[in-house]
Amino acid sequence: MALPESEIVVLPPPRGALAPAARIPVRWRASARARRVSLLICPREGEVVVTLPPRAGRRAGIALLRQHEAWVLERLAALAPPIEFAPGAKLLLGGETHAIRHEPRRRGGAFIEGREIVVTGAREFLPRRVGDFLRAEAKRRIGALAVPHAAALGVKPRVIRLKDTRSRWGSCAPDGTLAFSWRLVMAPEWVTDYVVAHEIAHLRELNHSVRFWALVEQLTPNRDAAVEWLRAQGPALLRVG
Ligand SMILES: [Zn+2]
Repeated sequence: MALPESEIVVLPPPRGALAPAARIPVRWRASARARRVSLLICPREGEVVVTLPPRAGRRAGIALLRQHEAWVLERLAALAPPIEFAPGAKLLLGGETHAIRHEPRRRGGAFIEGREIVVTGAREFLPRRVGDFLRAEAKRRIGALAVPHAAALGVKPRVIRLKDTRSRWGSCAPDGTLAFSWRLVMAPEWVTDYVVAHEIAHLRELNHSVRFWALVEQLTPNRDAAVEWLRAQGPALLRVG
């Protein structure tokens, strides 16, 4: 029987307990390679991804959910609320809060004015325009940050791409292609700078050896603080847009 892709799983409280039933947004994932049932919180969608190996059914998934109910509810509650691109919405840009202001009569697409992202044109195009604007800003800012690091190490990325990855902020392919999450544009510049320095250093050392970390150290003093910032604030960045 095919599983529904997503559903709200209702877990009634144990008999006699004065608790409301837990309502848990679940996305089912059947995996031919999984060995066991597992749970994963997806911060982007605000749901629990339950992976089921070939012979396990929905019942096995629900048993595991029930076993970890407190943990799951706590993790879901800790997720930042989703932020949609809409007039008045506040989001980070370079670590500073900016509000989206819709100015239908003005021209110029989308641009920054003080602490606001001004978006012109029809309301229906606003989400798209904000998204395009943030990606363009990400490309510009990340490109600018890469230049001095690449020069310092005497390397040159083949190309810099933007992605919307959920599990990594940056990556370096063996052919010298660097990829970054456009969402880094929301982080403070020193955090993005660390991620850029990290990937640029991979152009010299495509590993995480002592030599690699020495190069990173040479490029930025902010490694620990940036890693910590991304661990604490990164999930909220995934909830934007
Ligand atoms: Zn790395």
